[in-house]
Amino acid sequence: MAQDTQTESRKLLGRLRDALAEDSAGQERLDKITSLIASSMGTEVCSIYLFRDDETLELCATEGLNPEAVHQTRMRVGEGLVGRVARASSVVNTDDAPNAKGFRYMPETGEEIFSSFCGVPVQRLGDNLGVLVVQSKEKRTFSLDEVYALEVVAMVLAEMTELGAFIGEGAAMSALHQQSEMFRGTSGQEGASEGHVWLHEPRVVVTNPVADDPEVELKRLNDAVEELRVGVDKMLDTAARGDKEQLDVLEAYRMFANSKGWMRRMEQDISRGLSAEAAVEMEQSAARSRMEQVTDAYLRERLHDLDDLSNRLLRILTGQGSETGAEMPSDPILIARNIGPGELLEYGRKLKGIVLEEGSVGSHAAIVARALAIPLVIHADKITTEALNGDHIMVDGDQGIVHLRPDDTVVTAFRDKIAMATQAQERYASIRDKDAESRDGQLVHLHMNAGLMADLPSLPTSGAEGVGLFRTELQFLIRNQMPKRTELAQLYGRVMDAAEGKRVVFRTLDIGSDKVLPYMAPQDEPNPALGWRAVRVALDKPGVMRMQLQALLRGANGRPLTIMFPFIAQYEEYTAARAEVDKAMERERILGHPLPETLEVGAMLETPSLGFAPKKFYEEVDFLSIGGNDLKQFFFAADRENERVRRRYDTLNVSFLTFLEGIVNRCIDTGTPLSFCGEDAGRPIEAVCLAAMGLRHLSMRPASIGPVKSLLRRVDLSEVRRVIHQAREQGDQSVRPAVMEYLRNGN
Ligand code: PEP
Ligand code: MG
Repeated sequence: MAQDTQTESRKLLGRLRDALAEDSAGQERLDKITSLIASSMGTEVCSIYLFRDDETLELCATEGLNPEAVHQTRMRVGEGLVGRVARASSVVNTDDAPNAKGFRYMPETGEEIFSSFCGVPVQRLGDNLGVLVVQSKEKRTFSLDEVYALEVVAMVLAEMTELGAFIGEGAAMSALHQQSEMFRGTSGQEGASEGHVWLHEPRVVVTNPVADDPEVELKRLNDAVEELRVGVDKMLDTAARGDKEQLDVLEAYRMFANSKGWMRRMEQDISRGLSAEAAVEMEQSAARSRMEQVTDAYLRERLHDLDDLSNRLLRILTGQGSETGAEMPSDPILIARNIGPGELLEYGRKLKGIVLEEGSVGSHAAIVARALAIPLVIHADKITTEALNGDHIMVDGDQGIVHLRPDDTVVTAFRDKIAMATQAQERYASIRDKDAESRDGQLVHLHMNAGLMADLPSLPTSGAEGVGLFRTELQFLIRNQMPKRTELAQLYGRVMDAAEGKRVVFRTLDIGSDKVLPYMAPQDEPNPALGWRAVRVALDKPGVMRMQLQALLRGANGRPLTIMFPFIAQYEEYTAARAEVDKAMERERILGHPLPETLEVGAMLETPSLGFAPKKFYEEVDFLSIGGNDLKQFFFAADRENERVRRRYDTLNVSFLTFLEGIVNRCIDTGTPLSFCGEDAGRPIEAVCLAAMGLRHLSMRPASIGPVKSLLRRVDLSEVRRVIHQAREQGDQSVRPAVMEYLRNGN
């Protein structure tokens, strides 16, 4: 890079900073900036266009074009050369603008006489704020150095725009982070809520984009990068036994932290006059723009890693931690790129909603959000860049939609929706103590699923008869090390205390597949869902299972105890697991600890094979619970985690219902108590069909009990059964249309 352009650039940035520091109105500042840039670049024209809304750019200041056009001239993204810069987020540099692709003549500006055009995007961390343009009469192609200098200036402008330096009378100058926006994501947990934004990781604010002494800034950058490298190495040391994904991320961090190209670009930015933190942000912005264009999932992940690393570096440089002194609103809606289950639990029930840019339906955070019954939207692209602490926000967890800074019509419609949901809840509360008895007198028992102590308060309020499934893996998933036996025993004891004598079915640790413990070496398996998971792990490495069984016996402390083994695929697995329970009982007896008053040991039916297990199995097992989530994925060979296929096959498909009917009949023959505890039990239409097929115990999320009970009380189950049989006879693929039709006709 030529020494003189560097010096010129530094001088220009210094003058810009002075102009910004002056006590003047936003418009005056912008005017001054355009004239400074024009004179420094040796061009007749310099103009700044800012976004007025998502689609429109407005000329906000100019040196050289007709001043009357300011705040009058507007163009859509993609329109004209300015619009082209904005759409592609990339530079347009031509010495023959009138003949360049996309040129559009704006008569009010008087720009027809200018031949050369160079426009660069004004963007901050992937957020497009506007376009900076220089033009000249003389035919001139701006050199790479000059374009680069303009980009550095645009970066400072973006930073100042973000800080509100140009707020003024023009709508475009005040538009940033003020317009209403809608984000379409994916539903992670149903429910609707309204509140105010609380950023899990507030953005770092760079208040000093321009610096006087490049030497000082270079040293600051080098020191900070060194600190970063040491930090990453430390993380790698401690994570050495952790999971592969985490190691991959840290390795990528290390690679970037040692990347010469990354360092060199930041050093160049500094020699142009940027402060160390502004240089980091400039690189971060460039990486974000690249991210938009990359479709390869792996590369996107790596660019995300670079983004995270830049954030760490910015925090080191600015000394800004997560603590910004901001006060959490009373109705916080948490916004984050992603969040771990432990962190989410720390926030607990005070959150009114959660919106994540990443995440997956089966992620631990989603499991916790569900346990806490907090509406969750995942895959809300770019929400962390758009939302500011305190913004008004509405989260529709049913549809996976988020309204940020909603306008009045949205607010009214949304509040109506919340009011309707509240009314429905009131209706459900009124039948809370009534039986789920159908019109033809068939009684269905409704239980709730749980996984945290925090779930237990829902037991009395939901009207559940007991806990039909307590997923014990959450205590293992949310920490960094294996929980201790005494801790678990205490927790199980407290769960039973809270249940006040109602039955709690404790499912033993179900890990593997989508549930990976952070402190256990991950298995590199081609098909984890079909792999080494749940009871398979427990039987091969019985240490953890033994510890857990002991904790359950101690927690029960003489009270009745119900234990259920997950993912039993054949009879021998059940007998082997049961033998472990017997051994644990014997050990407790020898140690003189109280034994449970009664003990039930059951199995989850999650693989089709168990539907065809020997009669002996059905006779021996104390009870069976159908884990419909897993059973369905194996029945249809459709991964429950894969968005492309997971909804492809209907639970009410006749093949699946016929299979379930077979299991029900085998259980009737052998007198085996049977329940259903997959997600489908909590969906009213599905629940009614399951009950019609003979399932008399359904376990579901607490919030589903009201709607399921309400529908069950309104239907005649023998009639539903007749409708199902008829649809099957007719050769329907799914009984859903026939059942829906029957329900719609007022039955
Ligand atoms: C199931 O598979 O239906 C089930 C209840 O277990 P999980 O969802 O925890 O795998
Ligand atoms: Mg399962």
